Amino acid sequence: MTIDFEKAGKSVQEITIETEAGPVSAGHACVVNNGPGPRVLVVAGIHGDEYEAQLALHRLVARLDTDIVRGRLIVIPEANFPASGKGLRCAPSDGANMNRTFPGNRTGSPTERLAAFLFHDALPHADLLIDVHSGGPTYKGEMIAFAFHSPACKVSEAQLLSMMEACGLPYITHQESIGTTFVGAAAAAGTAAIELEGGGTTLVEGGNVDLFLEALLRGLAQFGVLAIDPAEKETVPRHLDVGPQNMFEAPVEGLLEHRVRMGQMVEAGELVALIHPFGDFAREPRRIEARAAGIVISQRSLLRVVPGDCLGNTGTPR
Ligand SMILES: [Zn+2]
Repeated sequence: MTIDFEKAGKSVQEITIETEAGPVSAGHACVVNNGPGPRVLVVAGIHGDEYEAQLALHRLVARLDTDIVRGRLIVIPEANFPASGKGLRCAPSDGANMNRTFPGNRTGSPTERLAAFLFHDALPHADLLIDVHSGGPTYKGEMIAFAFHSPACKVSEAQLLSMMEACGLPYITHQESIGTTFVGAAAAAGTAAIELEGGGTTLVEGGNVDLFLEALLRGLAQFGVLAIDPAEKETVPRHLDVGPQNMFEAPVEGLLEHRVRMGQMVEAGELVALIHPFGDFAREPRRIEARAAGIVISQRSLLRVVPGDCLGNTGTPR
């Protein structure tokens, strides 16, 4: 055990992971304990290049002091430190997508060991997980919240919903969970989990960092782990269903041209993108049409696409 999750007051502790070559430093965890109350784990940087999320958590850590916490708050801003520290989505040592490696493996690859630390060491010290992602260089996205739950969770579905509504991001989405993500694995194992997503592209937008931080402050205050009075948000989140039919996929290689804007409502059959063949722009581009009606909530932000690439997603209003 490298972190003392019971330590009283606010502490910033180094995370170390055991490897055959000895212990390796893997970033820091901020632990704040102040008496009885809710217990929450907040992480970002599982995808190392999603910096808006990580910067928001660093600013959250700077804001925390023992007096404003009720219960326990654990914040890990760079959960995939080997990737984040190199400006990469995945750790260079194994190239694994950490958000498909949960619950991790203590004797596996470096990414699997870090996932095991998050799942087996950190998560049991919390009743609620909040995992914050931003689009990274490949996608830009609307700011959304979603949650997963199972009957064994101490936190109720109603509490999750109230907290997401308090966060005040524009959308709450509903979709099937993926069991190897942190939120999916946590909920299945009995810890309720919320994921926040949004922002992205190759630039860090300060406004998105602020939105994440404000959403976290409002959500954590609503849940009762922060005794603060954050600014009210007037946004009433819209509920969207997201299924496989909401995704646009590239059938061919080429140059991507978006024909719809983020936040736009599209109908089934509507043109959403064109893919132009490189080197022959005079040729008819491939038309990509929406398979379901919905609001555009994410779009690919790279020019070149190959077959199978996700070009964007909508969510269908409830
Ligand atoms: Zn991510």
